[in-house]
Amino acid sequence: MGLEETQGGNAMKLAVVKEVKADERRVALVPETVGRLIAKGLAVAVEAGAGSGAWFPDRDYQQAGATIEPSLEALLGAADVLVKIHAPEQHEIDLMRPGSVVVGLLYPRFNPDLIRRLGEKRITAVALDSMPRTSMAQVMDVLSSQSTAAGYRAVILAARALPKFLPMLMTPAGTIGPARVLVLGAGVAGLQAISMARRLGAVVEAFDVRGAVKEEIESLGARFIDAGITEDAGTSGSYAREVSAESQQKIAAIITDRLSRTDICITTARLPGRRAPVLITAEMVRGMRPGSVIVDLAADQGGNCALTEPGAEVVREGVTIIGPTNAAGEVAVHASQMFSRNVERLLNHLIRDGALRLDLKDELTRSCVITHDGNVLEAVG
Ligand code: NAD
Repeated sequence: MGLEETQGGNAMKLAVVKEVKADERRVALVPETVGRLIAKGLAVAVEAGAGSGAWFPDRDYQQAGATIEPSLEALLGAADVLVKIHAPEQHEIDLMRPGSVVVGLLYPRFNPDLIRRLGEKRITAVALDSMPRTSMAQVMDVLSSQSTAAGYRAVILAARALPKFLPMLMTPAGTIGPARVLVLGAGVAGLQAISMARRLGAVVEAFDVRGAVKEEIESLGARFIDAGITEDAGTSGSYAREVSAESQQKIAAIITDRLSRTDICITTARLPGRRAPVLITAEMVRGMRPGSVIVDLAADQGGNCALTEPGAEVVREGVTIIGPTNAAGEVAVHASQMFSRNVERLLNHLIRDGALRLDLKDELTRSCVITHDGNVLEAVG
């Protein structure tokens, strides 16, 4: 069991900073959650303006009982636990105390240098992206909550770009047929996209390499596309693995066929720690109807469409291709609220009697604590 001592033996101090990553509007803790954490005996200090991108003004944090700190140096120098959306930048690490803790999306496998630096400074690193996929961890899982926000946003982005209605409309000017939406990858984001597109009245079909999702797709009122593949790409961790070349050919054939009749295609396919699979080639885009739209939610991992430009909206072969790299961040209020509630649940799990007690025998704690006491606990890189 590891025990993080609070500075000076007073209430454990949480710090919330303004995210520095370009275009990031989310904040890791919102006033509602801060109020509950303070009621549990913690102290919370917030960098001035930290919530402004998500429309949470400093005065709301003050009303919740937090102190507003204009100086990052003072904030991080006094903090026991820094809670962030993204990994800390070097200037933030420099200001943190040895023995303190950082909680955020650290992606240790992609950031071995960062993990080494945190370990060397004896900062305990808690990676929110390393949460196990268990029912207990679900309420703390920011990847799921942010995928929910991204799936929702993808449909809104697509609807805005599509020069058509989504629902069927019966008007004096005649009947307009519903839009057809194809969702590739039916994990958390894909299922949310299906649900939203259905609510807007579209006819939806979806494909995933994990056969287990057929029922979930159908329960949302969409059609499951059977590509005729015999292997199931599901893994015990509920992630997908790469499928065989033969299956890939079958999938490509069915996607080509469906795309030619699709108005909106939303892609969400990811493989853990790998480049996202390319499911839509340039040739397939050429076969799509002019004016149709692709929203590629895997843009930040290389994209599911060969023509996606991460962070941009482009028109190629008459098709609008949108590659949001932070779709969840575009729904900053609710994405922050969900992130914050997830972190609160995790802190509730890690904190006992007002101090952070890391029970490294606990599966959940062990999965997301990457450095502790100067040691790197996970294989990274
Ligand atoms: P993800 O973001 O890793 O991937 C998105 C989807 O893309 C997955 O459904 C995957 O099967 C699919 N995919 C991968 N390669 C593909 C390809 N070539 N063609 C088509 N689809 C492809 O997945 P996710 O959204 O994080 O969730 C996956 C599953 O894990 C879901 O069933 C979800 O409910 C479950 N999950 C459980 C927990 C938990 O229990 N705590 C947490 C998160 C997710």
